[in-house]
Amino acid sequence: MSTVHLSAITKQFGKVTAVEGLDLIIKEGEFFTFLGPSGCGKTTTLRMVAGFYYPTKGVVKFNDRDMTTVPPEKRNTGMVFQNYALFPHMTVFENVAFGLKVRKMSKAETKKRVEDVLRKVRLDQYMERQVSQLSGGQQQRVALARALVIEPDILLLDEPLSNLDARLRDEMRAEILRLQKEYQITTIYVTHDQVEALTMSDRIAVFNFGKCQQVGTPTEIYNEPVNDFVAEFIGETNLLPVREAASGESLRSFHADVLGGEVSVNNTSLNIAGYTENDDLMMSVRPEAVEVSGQRVTGANVFPGRVKMVQFTGAAVHTYVEMNEQLTLVGTALNQGPSTYLKEGADVFVRLPEDQIRIVPKAGV
Ligand code: ATP
Repeated sequence: MSTVHLSAITKQFGKVTAVEGLDLIIKEGEFFTFLGPSGCGKTTTLRMVAGFYYPTKGVVKFNDRDMTTVPPEKRNTGMVFQNYALFPHMTVFENVAFGLKVRKMSKAETKKRVEDVLRKVRLDQYMERQVSQLSGGQQQRVALARALVIEPDILLLDEPLSNLDARLRDEMRAEILRLQKEYQITTIYVTHDQVEALTMSDRIAVFNFGKCQQVGTPTEIYNEPVNDFVAEFIGETNLLPVREAASGESLRSFHADVLGGEVSVNNTSLNIAGYTENDDLMMSVRPEAVEVSGQRVTGANVFPGRVKMVQFTGAAVHTYVEMNEQLTLVGTALNQGPSTYLKEGADVFVRLPEDQIRIVPKAGV
């Protein structure tokens, strides 16, 4: 097993800076996810760990060993690609055995190892089948087996589930986690799917524009986003520009305009991400914290609005409320039955509970 240290990593492709000034430590046995939108540098970073790219600047270490310019075949990493990259006309056995053949392992040892790993991914019945005759999920298992059979120190997975349908994706998520725990292998997983990242990871690094925005556990990232980009990318949130931030000795107050009044937040020091005086600030309120009611509501931060759209998802109901021409807020409530559903066009009251509002700086680019 290995730790992975990335120090001050920058990768340029001509004029394009794909990754900039990245520092990360991935711990032994950790399931670590690179999460971010398309083009933010996740795959480039993974490829620098695998050795397919060398950084323009910075150092890659496995434990204390400098790996920055060590070629991929000397790193003992196992990689699973988005498109699996299997040999379609070879059998399952031949595909999985390929890496061992290259390493000149004896036939007997190869057979034992391949059979062992195919049992672990539950494909031992398919050993002689050609890969082209397998389903997508089965091909994914072959790709996993091929990565694991070499007993890698680090497992690298690049969007491995994006070609599968929703149900199979769920199944394979559980399967990958089971194997990762069984092998106790340091794993880096690349995805743009926030649910995948939240449900699978020990820790997540959120990327945007080649820079790491935040590193944390799934609950830290969701509950304590460090800026508006992270708040919006992980789950949904309502963002309101802060008009004014006043600081006193013990009282800090923030205000945002809403038709019919202003949202005010006082004394929320626990709920404020680090920011400097000059930062542009936003209020972030998760939809599940927003109360939308057909009845008059009393208390602070209550505003009138009109229901624009109701989205039924089964377990939950999202209600989009128009507050003014520029501002629509969304509230999400658990499905409490048809009598509780609000109708489009209904006049409602929206409450933004003060202790659920997080003040975040705008992400710099
Ligand atoms: P996706 O989820 O779409 O794969 P990503 O976050 O993995 O995106 P990267 O593939 O790492 O993003 O790309 C980061 C940036 O670097 C993008 O602007 C991309 O166009 C650029 N880039 C990546 N590989 C190369 C390359 N070989 N040559 C030139 N530019 C590249």
